[in-house]
Amino acid sequence: MSISSFIAGLPKAELHVHHVGSASERIVGELAARHPGTVPSDPSGLRAFYEFRDFAHFIEVYLAVVDLIRTPEDVRLLTYEVAREMAQGQQVRYAELTCTPYTSVRPHEADRGMPIEAYTEAIEDARVAAERDFGLVLRWIYDIPGEAGLPAAEETLRFALDHAPAGLVGFGLGGPEIGVPRPQFRPHFDAARAAGLRSVPHAGETTGPETVWDAIRLLGADRIGHGTTAAQDPELLAFLAETGIPLEVCPSSNIATRAVASLAEHPITAFRDAGVRFSINSDDPPMFGTTLNREYEIAADLLDLDEAGVAELARAAVLASFAPQDVRARVLAEIDDHLVSATAGA
Ligand SMILES: [Zn+2]
Repeated sequence: MSISSFIAGLPKAELHVHHVGSASERIVGELAARHPGTVPSDPSGLRAFYEFRDFAHFIEVYLAVVDLIRTPEDVRLLTYEVAREMAQGQQVRYAELTCTPYTSVRPHEADRGMPIEAYTEAIEDARVAAERDFGLVLRWIYDIPGEAGLPAAEETLRFALDHAPAGLVGFGLGGPEIGVPRPQFRPHFDAARAAGLRSVPHAGETTGPETVWDAIRLLGADRIGHGTTAAQDPELLAFLAETGIPLEVCPSSNIATRAVASLAEHPITAFRDAGVRFSINSDDPPMFGTTLNREYEIAADLLDLDEAGVAELARAAVLASFAPQDVRARVLAEIDDHLVSATAGA
């Protein structure tokens, strides 16, 4: 069995993947047909629109897809179909999907958006259906779109505290890091953590290790989204190794956003050598022209792993997750079974 087919069949947990950013060409085609105008819905036009060119084009695609999500039915369709593709295409058994309710609820725009109650109901309906239909256990992370500043932080916290969906487990922070200081979000993370949510901010993707320190010291990070530039700070690497705070590594995303110049220079090897815990993730897979399977292939290549090593990566993601105990045990057992049957047949 090749390492690619081993990975394709490997049961996985996905911890860093965005809701809107997971909309595939197929899903966007369905949404574009519902709301004709800005995005082509015919296959060839859609393919050209979707092809990853550079980071500016990615932002354009992302915002165009955000604009297609106008009704609770759109939210439900997106969520359910993303779940289908994760389960059937990537063998994902458990996922923490990062949702940005602020951009769909749009409390700042009187003539757009939807009530938070309708948004919550739509994602929850899709979550229950995805578990029933695809055997995929979904949980939510609500993230603050950093570029929208404090009003977005206030609203996202309100959605998380006063309208929490049953599957909500974490509170995050995304968007640009440059020009968006982290300390301002401390009160929001304090309140979310006090309500039992786990802290999972993006940090150290496009700014230096000090942002990762901020995420740990000010935002109480339980896990770090990316954490790429932690590799520049030996003291930080040692701290991460000692405390076991895991990094959510997304190799292709780092190349697409130019956070890292090339895969050969990706710090994943430095993380391993320093004993830092990390999981492999896909971030915005169709928009970066990748899949979770592909990210595992890249990691296997960079870290020079065999089947047992790749299975260890999959286990690390489960262990870094906030999955219920029974789900953790089940997915870990499935990973072991896959390794045993693959190596027995070798
Ligand atoms: Zn992300």
